Amino acid sequence: MSKREVSRRDFLKGTAAGAASLAVTGLLGACSSAQEPETATAAETATEATQPSTEPAESQQPLEPYTYADTIGWDAEYDVVVLGIGASGCVAAKTAADEGAGVLIVEKMSEAHAGGNSKVCGQLFAYGNNDPESTLMYYKALAGGRQVPEAMLKTIADGVAGMADNLADAFEFDSSQFMDWTPVAPINNMSPEYPELPGSEKIGLWTTHQGISDSYLYTNLKQRVLDRSSQIDIWFESPAQELIQDPVSKTIIGVKVLRGGSVRNVRAINGVVVCTGGFEDDKEMVQHYLNLIDYAPIGGLYNTGDGIKMCQKAGADLWHMNAYEGGFGLGGTSFYVNEGENASQIQVLTQGPLNTGSCILVGTDGERFLNESEVVRHGHMYHNGLWVNPHFPEKMFLLFDQTQYELIESEGSIPERFRGDVKGFDTISEAAEAIGCTSQRLTETIEDYNSFAKNGKDYACSRNPEHMRAFDGAKYYVVQLKCEILNTQGGPKRNENAEILDTDGNPIPHLYSAGEMGGITCEMYQGGTNIAECIIFGQIAGRSAAAPKEALPAYENAVPVASSPKKLGDETDAGQQGNTNYETGDNEYIGTGTGMNGSVTVKVTMDGDAIGSVEVLEHNETDGIGTLAIDQMTGKFAGLSTAEEIDGVDTVSSATITSKALQEAVKDALSQVK
Ligand SMILES: Cc1cc2nc3c(=O)[nH]c(=O)nc-3n(C[C@H](O)[C@H](O)[C@H](O)COP(=O)(O)OP(=O)(O)OC[C@H]3O[C@@H](n4cnc5c(N)ncnc54)[C@H](O)[C@@H]3O)c2cc1C
Repeated sequence: MSKREVSRRDFLKGTAAGAASLAVTGLLGACSSAQEPETATAAETATEATQPSTEPAESQQPLEPYTYADTIGWDAEYDVVVLGIGASGCVAAKTAADEGAGVLIVEKMSEAHAGGNSKVCGQLFAYGNNDPESTLMYYKALAGGRQVPEAMLKTIADGVAGMADNLADAFEFDSSQFMDWTPVAPINNMSPEYPELPGSEKIGLWTTHQGISDSYLYTNLKQRVLDRSSQIDIWFESPAQELIQDPVSKTIIGVKVLRGGSVRNVRAINGVVVCTGGFEDDKEMVQHYLNLIDYAPIGGLYNTGDGIKMCQKAGADLWHMNAYEGGFGLGGTSFYVNEGENASQIQVLTQGPLNTGSCILVGTDGERFLNESEVVRHGHMYHNGLWVNPHFPEKMFLLFDQTQYELIESEGSIPERFRGDVKGFDTISEAAEAIGCTSQRLTETIEDYNSFAKNGKDYACSRNPEHMRAFDGAKYYVVQLKCEILNTQGGPKRNENAEILDTDGNPIPHLYSAGEMGGITCEMYQGGTNIAECIIFGQIAGRSAAAPKEALPAYENAVPVASSPKKLGDETDAGQQGNTNYETGDNEYIGTGTGMNGSVTVKVTMDGDAIGSVEVLEHNETDGIGTLAIDQMTGKFAGLSTAEEIDGVDTVSSATITSKALQEAVKDALSQVK
């Protein structure tokens, strides 16, 4: 077990002497700038300097083999470094410690703000009632035809099927306290969430005690970490910034961590587990990958996709970047909160005053865009046989009439904090102005809606006519909403060993992940799967990372290079011009020289033993620079008969290369004179 903070010099002394000597003969040459690891004082220097060079070493002194790790000035050294202290980070760290590893958890936030979505989530876990076959069928169907590797599906299915036993056995939860939420409304809507899919009869939503959304599961997982303080250190307010990667073998050997205002190089001997959650709090990534503009996060406010970007930089492939979970009412929307604030969910898990009657949702153009009364499944709505996230307009408004307003008021459906945001108007055109659309368009929307309600068929958004009522025409109320995100699912692609894969599908050595950062969910989502995935992959990643690894490849000076680098002229796109197939008459010779932009081709006409004239047939020299030499020198070769005389012709100082090319071309032609 290795767990200690080390001074850079002490560590370098130790490792330089005892560096593993697995020479990667045939893979690379000397790493000239890193020949003396003790001189490297910072990873920045090392990272820039250690691209192996194929240049022969200047010194012929044999040097000790060294690893890339020897070139870094390390500040601390652990067997395993875990990034993030959400549920997945806690499980990975605890599991790695139980395997005998010395572990460091680095966490971006203070202890009060750490814990990400895991701390604020419902604490529900998906449970497959010890039936891995049904669970596998169900999870396959959730993928909706998308390709998810069988081994990954099987890993999830086995894990979800046995989740209750696992939580009791490995994490000391008292199984007599576990609660099955299947009979409890409205959670029963999600237990299972897709009852029509095969295998669903065995799927349920459970908690580890009789409570929900109370941090119970997370607090206990964190406690398991704290119980192992002799093996696990935690650094709060210490964001991981970058993975440290051997540039040749691509092995991840550590992490740069910002701590107390300075960057620490933390060595991870056996592995790094990235558990930094999703990107729900990074506006740019959300716009880019999810196409949501005006949105609010429901959970933690600090998951900005850091781990995803770090892994990308280390060569990771990404998957499921367009998959996310939303809220539960009106397509998954929130009352209008300011930038940086948590969503205030319109949580209509069945039908209520905000998604029935005259309530319609319109975009800035005044058009409806979704079925307002549909029961939403984690922000997914039915669409052509699948359940997908709706496409939201940039801004959206809930519109309703006087009758509905009174119902909403009497039921207290809008929280006090947002009641002032509801604006009432006497006319459609005033409401249209508040929304920002034309009065004509909003009038059409309302007339269409009224006719659909009266005729019992919603031709625009397929809303159930039982939940529709024509506008009473008395008044029009408008309140702005925004869409919301529960959590994202995408991230670095991982395999069943929790290894992060590169774009060729190969594991990036010593790099692992768990949790919502790159999970299996790519289409439809069963509630409780994210927490289950934190447990399943946290355990796998913790074990994989803790497992002892082969020594890092060692490099030594002047190791033979097996590759056959191309040499000058072996392969080039330069000089494609320079055609020498010109017709020549008596006493005419073609010659070429190399100018600034390719070949310069001349025709030399001999007059007896001396040059009679020179004509430039082809060139690609720069107008006004190279052409000066062509204009000024071409006439000066007449009467010359030797190479020395040609070299003696005055060159044009601003166009030396073209001048020399001309001389070279004329000499080339002259050399052909018999
Ligand atoms: C309101 C809500 C309810 C939910 N309910 C459920 C539920 O009941 N069941 C379920 O299965 N799922 C639920 N989910 C989803 C689930 O909570 C998450 O998917 C899961 O908790 C993610 O865990 P994680 O460990 O991957 O990430 P997180 O729990 O988000 O933890 C990530 C941690 O990494 C830290 N971090 C980020 N960047 C860095 C960095 N650069 N360096 C170091 N640390 C960093 C963060 O500060 C955080 O502490 C819910 C989500 C929300 C928002």
